[in-house]
Amino acid sequence: MNVPDIIIAIDGYSSTGKSTFAKLISQAFGFLYLDSGALYRGVTFFALENGMIEGTDRIDLGRLIPALETLDIHFEEGSKTFLGKRCIEDRIRTLEVSSSVSPIAAVPEVRAYVDRRLREFGERGRIVMDGRDIGTTVFPNAQLKIFMVADDQVRAQRRYDEMVAKGETPDFQEVLDNLKERDRIDSTREVSPLRQAEDAFVLDNSDMTLHEEVVWIRGLIQGRFDIRETRWLWVWPLR
Ligand code: C5P
Repeated sequence: MNVPDIIIAIDGYSSTGKSTFAKLISQAFGFLYLDSGALYRGVTFFALENGMIEGTDRIDLGRLIPALETLDIHFEEGSKTFLGKRCIEDRIRTLEVSSSVSPIAAVPEVRAYVDRRLREFGERGRIVMDGRDIGTTVFPNAQLKIFMVADDQVRAQRRYDEMVAKGETPDFQEVLDNLKERDRIDSTREVSPLRQAEDAFVLDNSDMTLHEEVVWIRGLIQGRFDIRETRWLWVWPLR
């Protein structure tokens, strides 16, 4: 399908499958995929490694904020997260990082740092980006906005299965509590809280397969941008 050079913004609650969906879209339409949460996780990993976080949410802002000026978090090898020359893709997905990322993401200077990086990427167009405030703050003019939701138990089970597949031994209740707590902090923070953009299309994937999600977005894009599938043009004259 020939999709125009648009920005697709995918926001929603934790573990609703935003990144899996966004990656599929990027493959299907040849778009660049950007995971904004990975940048917040990268900052959190950096702060933890340098002893700037005590407990889960006491942050040494006096050290973190100046460090942002030279902090080099970027993507390499497709969409893997790097801190300088080091690949930190696996290390940013641990429960330790997940437990401190929302307090870090509520710091206005951290949000300014991440927004700046994301907008640099966005200048190229043809991107699909997932996060919490892409359609409301980072790219309010994105041509297509999706807001993803799913049942709490389904979300926790997906996250739990992902961690087990990586060889971890998570506690289900802890996983469920973590994602609810992140949603609470993300939705109530002062700067760019998680909320549905007025012009976003809601996708509740609690009972959907990935294939059904892709069929859904193809239909949406076709309708919205008035795209006709080439194969229909072939079939039509034969009838
Ligand atoms: O998407 P992911 O769960 O990896 O994001 C990790 C955290 O980063 C979220 O819980 C949220 O606190 C923060 N985040 C954000 N704004 C975004 C993307 C992520 O505040 N655009």
